[in-house]
Amino acid sequence: IEPETFRNAATTMIDYVIKYHKEIGNRQAFPDVEPGFMRDLLPSDAPKAGESWEDVYSDIERVVMRGMTHWNAPGFFAYFPTASSFPGLLADILCGGATCIGFSWVASPSCTEMETVMMDWLAKALDLPQCFIHGGHGPGGGVIQGTASESTLITLIAARSKVIRRELSRDPNLSMYDVLSRMVVYTSNCSHSSVEKAGLLAMIEVRKLDAGREGIVTGKTLQEAIDEDKKNNKIPTFVCATLGTTSCCSYDNVDEIGRICKCEIEDIWLHIDAAYAGAALICPEFRHIANGIQRATSFNFNPHKWLMVNFDCSALWRVRDSSYLSNSANVDALYLEHETQQTTIDYRHWQIPLGRRYRSLKVWFVLRMVGIDGLQSHIRRGVAEAKYFESLVRKDERFEIVFPVTLGLVCLKLKRLGLNLENVINEELNRKIQDDRRIHLVPSTVHGIYFLRVATGSVNCSRQALDNCWDVIREMAQLI
Ligand code: PLP
Repeated sequence: IEPETFRNAATTMIDYVIKYHKEIGNRQAFPDVEPGFMRDLLPSDAPKAGESWEDVYSDIERVVMRGMTHWNAPGFFAYFPTASSFPGLLADILCGGATCIGFSWVASPSCTEMETVMMDWLAKALDLPQCFIHGGHGPGGGVIQGTASESTLITLIAARSKVIRRELSRDPNLSMYDVLSRMVVYTSNCSHSSVEKAGLLAMIEVRKLDAGREGIVTGKTLQEAIDEDKKNNKIPTFVCATLGTTSCCSYDNVDEIGRICKCEIEDIWLHIDAAYAGAALICPEFRHIANGIQRATSFNFNPHKWLMVNFDCSALWRVRDSSYLSNSANVDALYLEHETQQTTIDYRHWQIPLGRRYRSLKVWFVLRMVGIDGLQSHIRRGVAEAKYFESLVRKDERFEIVFPVTLGLVCLKLKRLGLNLENVINEELNRKIQDDRRIHLVPSTVHGIYFLRVATGSVNCSRQALDNCWDVIREMAQLI
């Protein structure tokens, strides 16, 4: 299309997005559609001749919005919030408009260097230890991945190749498959499913440690598992600890776990998954949750969850030595070589794909236009909302709060029914809430206990939205 047509279309699109955000309060968080609904709305083949923008535009409500889950609707309290900010969106427009694929320094010096500086800005804003910083002392550094899942996978692959190299250098008669079959990954039975998936993809056994009733893995639990595995000739390779579990926002004891990983004669790679809770480190009063973080080999959090940077943006730091990661994913081809490759960062070696978007623009725009003060207020608002909701629940003696409310997640259930009945009743409560459609939550279980999760802190969350949420939950409970 011609630039002028684009200008007009883009203006309509931006007006649409602004209206969407302004009026999102009128939208139901979860749509009334059945699987397969889209086939009935779309022709079976792509159009042969191009259609007009007006035709496409007129289908946005009819087709796209028809089956949309509105993550920023005031009735949405599921998972964890997803970031949405106009500065992030502006950067996405520039990123899409400039269309660079910055896999190496030479493929786009601006993309690479902005990312390096932004990862340092973020590390400093979160008060991460010096060893995380590119411009600090030591070989660490940060990179933007698409998701926390990729961050876990790429760090696991790096740990895997480090161990394989070490073992083969000791005994050249071994094959790498001999080593692989002996490796073990440790993680909590409360950690995110992406850790198990990373183990599957990397073909390494994942041992899930019991996090108990509190959802916390301690050093003792890890040590016992390691000792047992070593007796069985296994190789403890990688620990993925979580700060802010998805189920209940619990925090593994990273201080104890880190000491164990470092005490082992063969350093065990400690990756910290702080996908959600990491954003809270921007506020000094929440930094205690990351006690012991300086012993991590790598650390990850998702600015696209709670730090106002629109999806996708997952910040990963390889603390100990960034060369572990780049060595494990380093392949070369003549067309990718360039003169400065010995002295500059080529982020293609720090990730799974070759191509990469200019995602650091979003971090730059958000940090500049919202500022650290604005981001701190955003986090504090989310936490205050959770505390408010907790206070509502505590006033009703039929309900109980299941886990301490430390950030923006409230876990609750109907209580005093005896465990078996209690789970059945709470499942029924969840079903009624889902069917009712006024609010959207997801449940979880820890240690066999089923409960509802209410995640606060999205851009359109408010006391009024939480009052409505609480009214719906109580009304549905009344029906049971
Ligand atoms: N880890 C934790 C603790 C999470 O809460 C989540 C998602 O909610 C993930 C990992 C996966 O995140 P992503 O979608 O970025 O892979």
